[in-house]
Amino acid sequence: MKDVLNNKFTDQVRFTHEHLTPQITEYLAIHEYEIKDNAKKIIDSAKQYNSYNAFEKLMQEYDLSSDEGIVLMCLAEALLRIPDSKTINDLIEDKIPSGKWKDHIKNDNSIFVNISSIAFLMTGKILRQGELNETDIFISALKNISKPVLRTIIKQSINLLAKQFIFEKDIHKASKLSSKLKDSIYAYSFDMLGEGARTYADSTKYFENYKNAILTIGKSTSKKQHSISIKLSALHPRYERSKLDLLRKELLPKLFELINLAKSMNVDICFDAEEADRLNLSLFLVEDILNSDLIDSEYTGFGIAVQAYQQRAMFVLHWLSSKLLLLNKKMNVRLVKGAYWDTEIKLAQEKGLINYPVFTKKFITDLSYLRCAHILETSQNIFPQFATHNAFTIAYVQCLFKDKPHEFQKLHGMGDEIYNHFDNNEDFSCRVYAPVGGHNDLLPYLVRRLLENGANTSFIHQLNKKNSTIDDLTQSPLSKIPMIEHNQINKPESIFPNRKNSYGVDLTEEKNITTFSNLQILHDVKAYSIINGIDQITKVKEKIAKPYDLNLKIGEAYFADESVINAAIKSLNGFSQNWKSSSLDERILIVHKFANLLEKNYHNLVSYCVQEAGKTIQDSIADIREAVDFCRYYAEEAKKILQENNLPGPTGEKNIYKLKARGLTCVISPWNFPVAIYVGQMIASLITGNVTLVKPAEQTSGISYFIFKLLLKAGLPKEAAALVLGKGENIGPTVFSTKGLQNVVFTGSLNTAKIIQQQLHQREDLINLIAETGGLNCLIADSSALTEHVVDDVINSAFNSAGQRCSACRILFIEENVYNKTMLMLKGALETLSISSPELISTDVGPVIDVQSREKIERHLSQFNKKFQLAIDVNQGNFIPPTIIEIENISDVRDEIFGPVLHVLTFKSKNLNELCNQINSLNYGLTLGIHSRIDRVISTLTNNINVGNIYINRNIVGAVVGSQPFGGHNKSGTGPKAGGPEYLKKFCYEYSISNNVVAMGGNVDLLSNVYD
Ligand SMILES: Cc1cc2nc3c(=O)[nH]c(=O)nc-3n(C[C@H](O)[C@H](O)[C@H](O)COP(=O)(O)OP(=O)(O)OC[C@H]3O[C@@H](n4cnc5c(N)ncnc54)[C@H](O)[C@@H]3O)c2cc1C
Repeated sequence: MKDVLNNKFTDQVRFTHEHLTPQITEYLAIHEYEIKDNAKKIIDSAKQYNSYNAFEKLMQEYDLSSDEGIVLMCLAEALLRIPDSKTINDLIEDKIPSGKWKDHIKNDNSIFVNISSIAFLMTGKILRQGELNETDIFISALKNISKPVLRTIIKQSINLLAKQFIFEKDIHKASKLSSKLKDSIYAYSFDMLGEGARTYADSTKYFENYKNAILTIGKSTSKKQHSISIKLSALHPRYERSKLDLLRKELLPKLFELINLAKSMNVDICFDAEEADRLNLSLFLVEDILNSDLIDSEYTGFGIAVQAYQQRAMFVLHWLSSKLLLLNKKMNVRLVKGAYWDTEIKLAQEKGLINYPVFTKKFITDLSYLRCAHILETSQNIFPQFATHNAFTIAYVQCLFKDKPHEFQKLHGMGDEIYNHFDNNEDFSCRVYAPVGGHNDLLPYLVRRLLENGANTSFIHQLNKKNSTIDDLTQSPLSKIPMIEHNQINKPESIFPNRKNSYGVDLTEEKNITTFSNLQILHDVKAYSIINGIDQITKVKEKIAKPYDLNLKIGEAYFADESVINAAIKSLNGFSQNWKSSSLDERILIVHKFANLLEKNYHNLVSYCVQEAGKTIQDSIADIREAVDFCRYYAEEAKKILQENNLPGPTGEKNIYKLKARGLTCVISPWNFPVAIYVGQMIASLITGNVTLVKPAEQTSGISYFIFKLLLKAGLPKEAAALVLGKGENIGPTVFSTKGLQNVVFTGSLNTAKIIQQQLHQREDLINLIAETGGLNCLIADSSALTEHVVDDVINSAFNSAGQRCSACRILFIEENVYNKTMLMLKGALETLSISSPELISTDVGPVIDVQSREKIERHLSQFNKKFQLAIDVNQGNFIPPTIIEIENISDVRDEIFGPVLHVLTFKSKNLNELCNQINSLNYGLTLGIHSRIDRVISTLTNNINVGNIYINRNIVGAVVGSQPFGGHNKSGTGPKAGGPEYLKKFCYEYSISNNVVAMGGNVDLLSNVYD
């Protein structure tokens, strides 16, 4: 088990085809002709098969690589869940006009495809005409008359997509239908639609559905051994690796109950395979089940799905096989290729993983599948079930398992043409994966199926393409090995063109879980100001305690007194000219070394972030990654902006434009990102050549000292920067009145920014202030949005980091017709949060930073009656229960509340413009979230709301350096945006040098050119 679970197979052992191919090469050397011949027969029969299947015709016509295919997919994803006609109309008006529907009306198309195309075309035309001349009475009358009719036709087309994949609406009907089909080659595995419960109520509902399904199927008179497919994510709202202990307590007993019931009713059970970061988790639970008495020699119907596209697939099978042998127990394994490939690639890039958990070439997934089949062939205790619609894969497996028990599996609504070939073959057994349920629970499943049918890499898609040849379709994946180095998908670390992506610790990997569950216990930390590389021991010292247990002291910070501040300024001024004229290459080298040192010190840094700032482990990792990204991004930017540029002018004149460091810069950073913001501001200042006085928040003095030492270790000349610890009100006035100060960079509260601004106004010169402050950030969700998605993103944006992010969601606007539904799920999701010590990997919400912050938030909460709070049982530290407050008006919230508090209210879609005005009237301008599938809504909001960062259909926190430059305006800051192309320029003065180069002599250049 350990070998499968630790990251050996995803991180260290890189895929080389030697792992997969030798056995397949050997096998094909003998059997290739037979396999290809069989595959050819399957394809021949599939090509002749006339399914009259309207869905397949529609999918063939509207390829997902075309605009029309995409429109169809957007409609399928959203249309059926929208509750009101107006929003349905809006969605249709939004999407349909962009397609070239006329091209799809053809003589040789089915009537259904042509009718749909005509409906799409007419809708598009009417809508476009309407846009051209809204005052034309005829057009608007036509529009009104046709709308309901067209809406019905379009809804029917989309309904048809959905129906294609639903076997029956409920399990009783499904059971009846399957009994009627008893003479066919097919058995059934019923999938109770619904996945990814967000609340305990949802998971209970799904549990009851599964129980009911087992009972119904168990009582059915069918001679076939039907089974039930179970999605574990439907049975618990927090089906995540970090919650393993909780899941063992809450989910495992439910699984035991279901298996026990299945055993008593003689029904087989299969756990579906879900996302790669849930693989280890599922194996832990499977191991617990196998070790239990539930699985014995009597019951062999328990099974799991294994995805061949996962790099770990073959190792999982080896492990299962030897485990079963040891226990002398049997089970089923459904081998699939995997349905979440695009999601896995995106997630790995976002998380900065070392490698992808899945293969990145389609033919390698195919090879992996065959390799896994060989493992299953030698396993005595596994009954193999091959779920595939690929003719070559089927033919290979058939050949390999000629004399061995096995079955094939297909999805209901897919692959009929492929399996039609076996219809009269009594020796052939196949099971149909049959989704049961209503449209509402179907949508994520439907989108996966549409992708599978429409993607170019998919076998079914290739088969249905008019110009596909038998030779192409029966090509062995082995023959593609020479293409192994072609078209590589960049590794997650190389997704940015000129710089390395920061490395992200994957907290679903066992090795990392062990490492980060054992943080270095901080005690006796001593943090000092540093001048010229020397620690400044002063008399004023302050205790550093853990914000989640105020009795636990981790050390002491020695705050700078007046003499230390003055000495720092003097030393920095003395070195300013040297640093300005130092080599940029050297500065860049130091910054790169520093970034690498930050990555090398992950464990220490996380230990500090958790114990001193109270950040969760996951948030700490994100903080460190951002700091590393800042370093590498600014290093690249500095190269760009610090180049000398020649400007055009009359002959005989040389005009140069360049940027140069300003000089002494004071950097004041906050405690909520004690790594990222501290490092980002400091490095921006230093890399552009400014000597820098760094004043981090007093609450995070320990980590600031630790990081500053790393910077010196990276080779920063000790005179170039000084660390000055202490409270802003003691240090600020001296620094801000210093002669020679050129720049102040601040991130923190609006009040403090204003105080700094006032103090800088007292000076006789005009110096630069870059201030990044907070926001009253709003997220707007209309009824076209997916409620589960909205809830995930709101929970993440409002409560992660205990709401202590400038970008956090403070106000949620929900369209009135989905308000109750969304609130129910939101409250349910809030109840699943764990608020506890951030030292635990399972903690979702940690403490707020200090007693003052806690008291301020508590005062705010006490003003509201209509609030929903998570019950918490922690009382040692600065904990605030995550809270949702229902408000009537946006004006009920005046100031930013820096904690886990979300205010919610409704809006009407017709009042979108007024909503924009209300949000603008707050006079903050930092982040905005929009959840909508309707482009018109999105453009109205993005064009009219005045904020710096807008996020559409995603969460609103975690801006990525270089991808989402961060910062706002008005009460939210002065700009420029951190991690953006203008940031470094603000640390420089502009110089223009014009040289009359002909003053000494004549214009040699001009005279040497020959102008005949
Ligand atoms: C009965 C049944 C049950 C299923 N249960 C599950 C389940 O529990 N969990 C699950 O995840 N899926 C499940 N599936 C879905 C299944 O994963 C897909 O249907 C399957 O991948 C299609 O494989 P194929 O051999 O039919 O098609 P093919 O077209 O031959 O293969 C498609 C596969 O190639 C992969 N692929 C595409 N491009 C690349 C690339 N560049 N690099 C690497 N791989 C690539 C795709 O992700 C997909 O896995 C099930 C399918 C069936 C039939």
